[in-house]
Amino acid sequence: MRKSRNVMVVCITLLAVLVVGFTYKLSVSAAEKPTTQTVKSTKPMHHYLLVMGHGAGDPGARGNGTTEAHFMRAKLLPELRKYAKEVKHSKVTFYNPKHDIVRDTLVYHKGSYKINKKTTVIMFHLDSGSGAYAHGGHVIIHRPTPTKRDRRLAQVIKKYVGLNPAYHGYSYRTNLRNCNVLRRRGIDYSLLETGFITNKHDFKKINHNLDKIAKGYIEAITDEKLE
Ligand SMILES: [Zn+2]
Repeated sequence: MRKSRNVMVVCITLLAVLVVGFTYKLSVSAAEKPTTQTVKSTKPMHHYLLVMGHGAGDPGARGNGTTEAHFMRAKLLPELRKYAKEVKHSKVTFYNPKHDIVRDTLVYHKGSYKINKKTTVIMFHLDSGSGAYAHGGHVIIHRPTPTKRDRRLAQVIKKYVGLNPAYHGYSYRTNLRNCNVLRRRGIDYSLLETGFITNKHDFKKINHNLDKIAKGYIEAITDEKLE
């Protein structure tokens, strides 16, 4: 009887030592566990969403043997992508070129309705028409006066294509329904009419300067100088 009590005392003591030891180990390992929280010192990069006009069955304007939708996607888009990759201080992405943002917005209530309000949207188009004023490009702006970015963009058009004589660089329009969705949601945007697809001189200049135009646009949009 006495012997078994001694054994029990020893057992309880051992158990106590084990429990204390185990608890200590747990608390030490918890203290040593590296923290997974990282302190972010830089603010998140601004996001620019670049949208090729028309598409998904809508050809847009026609001229010089091509369509607006095709020219934007086959010619300008690859150049823009090339320079967008070099941007370091902001994030530049492209709207799915298989889609038409206007249709996505106005028919399916997606498109411009689904864009984050902090995103800046830049839309790429070509004008069409005939007559003395049917040449040169301009920027469709989202406020009555152009932003610094709009001014930089207009300079690119002026340098490589020329400005439309009717607009002198800018046009503030409130009758574009897709743009109005962006405006009502408080989303910053610019719409670029690089020139007239129907004008052979514009078309020649745009093709000839495509690389420079794309680089100039990406620099103007992001306000970053590229190599
Ligand atoms: Zn268009």
